[in-house]
Parts: sequence; structure tokens; C-alpha cells
Amino acid sequence: MNNKKVIIFSAPSGAGKSTIVTYLMKRYPILGFSVSATSRAPRGAEVNGREYYFFTSEEFRTKIDNDEFIEYEEVYKGSYYGTLKSEIDRLWNNGKIIVFDIDVVGGVNLKNLFGDSALSVFIKPPSLEILRERLTGRGTEDIESVEKRVKKAQYELTFEDKFDKVLINDNLEACLKEAERITEEFIS
Ligand code: ADP
Ligand code: 5GP
Repeated sequence: MNNKKVIIFSAPSGAGKSTIVTYLMKRYPILGFSVSATSRAPRGAEVNGREYYFFTSEEFRTKIDNDEFIEYEEVYKGSYYGTLKSEIDRLWNNGKIIVFDIDVVGGVNLKNLFGDSALSVFIKPPSLEILRERLTGRGTEDIESVEKRVKKAQYELTFEDKFDKVLINDNLEACLKEAERITEEFIS
């Protein structure tokens, strides 16, 4: 058994969360990725049940009303994201240490819920300019969406003190090494 631990990764969009989480998931089979629910549309090659459980706004609302979420947020106007209680049960029943890729406010909420069973990690971009470059370079957002995310990042960066660890994602290789180190320290 793993004593029901969880690792929470939060960051402004574009800081490198998915890159880091994907790397760690491949490296440590004990980790299980928490697939969130969202009301936003799939983008690129995203598959329902792998990156997200995709729902219409109405379906999402019904799940809120039925108290099916451990937490949820309207991360961007009109786009809801949340963690289903059933997802936590699924992963813990499979003996996994749960990994969350979740927005900054959701990350703080989950840390408050799980306490010492959780390691919360804030991934910080070197600067807002670099964040904008990464979001643009990823090619998944139009200009309006990039600017919305950069604007929100300024607010999100004020939360870093509320996390157990802060990882600066400047040089990717160095950041992945540090992510491995803190993961091993926590799961061992
Ligand atoms: P998030 O999941 O936080 O939104 P991503 O992992 O999708 O961010 O990263 C955003 C973009 O930045 C991707 O195109 C990714 O390849 C790139 N990226 C991630 N880390 C670095 C880094 N250290 N240096 C340069 N580019 C990076
Ligand atoms: P994206 O649209 O880029 O996939 O995600 C946008 C933001 O929503 C990211 O910061 C991501 O971490 C966050 N997010 C994903 N799943 C959840 C969730 O279950 N709850 C909350 N609060 N945020 C989430």
C-alpha cells in the first residue's frame, strides 16, 4: 500500500506542467494520473478519458449538482475543470499515488484537503515573456487565448508561497532532474 499519497502539480498554463508530469508518469509506474473532467472542447490529439473526460457545460453542471466533484473551478470564463471523486477512488483502488495537473487555486484547495498526504509543487516559468513564447510556440492557442492565459498567470504567480515546493522551469533537463528528486523523496 502507498498510504494514499497524492502529488499536486500546479502552474500557470504554459509553464510546463504537462511536459513534467508526462515525464514523471513514464518514469514511475506507481504514479497514476488523475484525469480531470472539463467542459472545454478537446484540442489537438486529446482523447476522451486520457487527457480529460470531456463533458458539455450542462453535463458538467449536473455533476456539480450531484456533488460528484472533490473540487472544481471555472478556470477560464465558460470553461469548467474538476476532479471527480470517482477518479480518486479508481486510482487509489489500483494502489497508485495520484498525480494531479490542476490550476493554482485547485492545487491549494487539494493541499488543504489532503494535508501531509500531499506534496504540492508549483511550477514557475522564468518570466511572463517566456511564458507567452511557450504558449505561442505550443501552437494550441489563438492570440486571444494566449493573452488570457498570460494575464491570469500574473495573478497565479502570487500563490507560489502556498505550495510545498517551487520548481523553476527554465532549463528543462535541470527541472526534470529536480522533479525526479522531489518525487522520489516523497514516494520513498
Ligand atoms: P502546461 O502543461 O503547463 O500548460 P506545457 O507542458 O504544455 O505547459 O508546456 C508549454 C510549451 O512549452 C510546450 O510546447 C513545451 O514543449 C514547452 N516547454 C516546456 N518546458 C520548457 C522549457 N524548459 N524550455 C522550453 N520550452 C519548454
Ligand atoms: P488546459 O485547458 O490547458 O488543459 O488547462 C487549463 C488549466 O486547467 C490548467 O491550469 C490545468 O492544470 C487546469 N485543470 C485541469 N484539470 C483541472 C481540475 O480538475 N481542476 C482544476 N481546478 N483545474 C484543472
